[in-house]
Amino acid sequence: MEEKYPLRVYDDPILREKSKLIEEITEEIKELARYMVEFADNNNGIGLAAVQLGVPIRMFILRNYIILPDEKWTVSAPMVFINPKIIWKSKETNSDTEGCLSIPGLPKGPVERPSLVKIEALDLEGNKFIDEREGMNARVFLHENDHLNGVLFIDRLPPKERKEIEPELQEIKKKYHDSPKHQ
Ligand SMILES: [Zn+2]
Repeated sequence: MEEKYPLRVYDDPILREKSKLIEEITEEIKELARYMVEFADNNNGIGLAAVQLGVPIRMFILRNYIILPDEKWTVSAPMVFINPKIIWKSKETNSDTEGCLSIPGLPKGPVERPSLVKIEALDLEGNKFIDEREGMNARVFLHENDHLNGVLFIDRLPPKERKEIEPELQEIKKKYHDSPKHQ
């Protein structure tokens, strides 16, 4: 699977493509979804969009953060979102740092996002569901949803912070795209 679906890293042009609507949930798509969960888990990711593995279709997986007593937290079982749509978002926003498997390195911020979103999507069986998400879980959804539109979280950084990380982005490009062992 790793050879078939290698991780795409900044600034692979595919990460800027608008992913296509899924018309039929094929066995191949189901297999890709299972592999995406495995890949995210093995790489300490909370979410992953299909385009990050080189398949520009409107699908991503994520796990929800679950807050426990005593400021502990855990994560939910994985969820699959197919052809997701934002049907409502709050005017209220919040800012936090974000990370991305396609932009290896430390989390960066602040990224401003709506605090609450209501979304509609299909699950892997093709059943429509509605999900209301808040805080970190809204953030993870919106980050993954951005990938479907060719948007990366670094695009949402304030100009000063965006400028500050430019040298690191150049390093990533050099490491992943200019070195012969990655070609
Ligand atoms: Zn990402």
